[in-house]
Amino acid sequence: MAEITNKSPLLDTLGRTHTSLRISVTDRCNIRCFYCMPNENVRFRPRHEILTFEEIERFVRVVSQMGVHRLRLTGGEPLVRADLPRLVEKLARLPGIDDLALTTNGILLPELAAELRSAGLQRLNISLDTLREDVFQKISRRAGLDQVLAGIAAAQDAGFQRIRLNAVAIHGLTEDEIIPLARFARERGLELRFIEYMPLDAEKHWQSTDVLDGEAIRRTLEAEFGPLVPVGRSHPSQPASDFEYADGAGRVGLISPVSQPFCSACDRLRLTAEGQVRNCLFSTAEWDARALLRGYATDDDLANLVRDCIQKKAPAHGIGTTNFVRPERAMYQIGG
Ligand code: SAM
Ligand code: SF4
Repeated sequence: MAEITNKSPLLDTLGRTHTSLRISVTDRCNIRCFYCMPNENVRFRPRHEILTFEEIERFVRVVSQMGVHRLRLTGGEPLVRADLPRLVEKLARLPGIDDLALTTNGILLPELAAELRSAGLQRLNISLDTLREDVFQKISRRAGLDQVLAGIAAAQDAGFQRIRLNAVAIHGLTEDEIIPLARFARERGLELRFIEYMPLDAEKHWQSTDVLDGEAIRRTLEAEFGPLVPVGRSHPSQPASDFEYADGAGRVGLISPVSQPFCSACDRLRLTAEGQVRNCLFSTAEWDARALLRGYATDDDLANLVRDCIQKKAPAHGIGTTNFVRPERAMYQIGG
C-alpha cells in the first residue's frame, strides 16, 4: 500500500475523496431566515473567535496540498464580513485552487459585486426563495427583496457568468413560487436550483412534513413547461439533478438531500467561521483547527487534524432514520 503523506488525497474509509471546501467567513447576517437563524437575540461569536483572513489562507494552503481545489465562501452572510474582497484576492492567488465561488443572500451585491469579481471571485450563487415581498418577509423576517433583485442585476452587470439562484423549497409556503421563479430565471439566463428544507433551523421547528420534495417540484415544473430533460452530472459529487427545459431555454436543478440523499458521492469538508473543521453539515463532532492555527502547530499537524476528521466521516447523514441526531449548530453557525 502507498505510504500516506500529508500531500496524499483526503480519502475517507468509504473511498470518498475530498476536493471541495466550504469556508464560513462569519456567523452574522443581515436577515433572519426561519430555516436558518433565530429571529431575535442571536448570540454571535465575538470577533476574536472568528478566523482571520491569514488563518483561513493558511488552512487553505494546507488542504490544497491534499487535493482540495474547489472553494466556496459562505456564512452567515459572507458579504457582511468586512473587507471580504481582500480574502477573495488572497484565495484566488493560491496555487491549486481552480474554482472560487460564493453563496450570498444578494442584499449587499449592489455595493460589492464588481469588487468581488475584480478580486478573482469566479462564481456566485444567490439565494432567492420568492419574488413576493410578503413571502420574503415571512421567510427572512426582514424586508429586502428589492435589494436582492438589485443584487442579482448588479452581479450580471459585473460580468459574472452562470449565476445560480438557490431556492429553499418549503411545503405549504413556497409551492406558488416555483413557476414565477422558473420564469424569472429563464428570462434572465440564470440557473435555478430548488433545495429541500433540511433540519438545520435554529428554532428546531423542522418537521419532515415541511419538506417540499424534489419530485413534487419536478411535477409542477413539467405541468407548466413540458417534460424536463435530465442533464448528465458535470461532476460525480454534484448534489443537484439538473434538467433542461423541453424548449431548450435554460436549466433547472433539484437538490434533494432529504428525499434522495447524495452522501455516497460527497466530496466536501467545511471550516466554520471560528475554525472548526466538519466532515458533514450534520456532523455532531468537530476538529479544532483554530487551536492549531493559534498555537505552535506545524502545517503537518494541521494536515493530520483534517485527515483525522475525514477518516471519521459517517457514511450518511441519516435524516429520516431512527439513528438521526440533529447537530447542535444551526445552518448559520456551520455555513451552508
Ligand atoms: N447567507 C447566504 C445565503 O443565504 O445564501 C449564505 C449562507 S446560507 C446558510 C447558504 C444556503 O443555505 C442558502 O441558499 C440558504 O437558503 C440555504 N439554507 C439555509 N438554511 C437551510 C435549510 N434549513 N435547509 C436548506 N437550505 C438552507
Ligand atoms: Fe442569513 Fe443565509 Fe441564513 Fe438566510 S440562509 S438567515 S440569508 S445566513
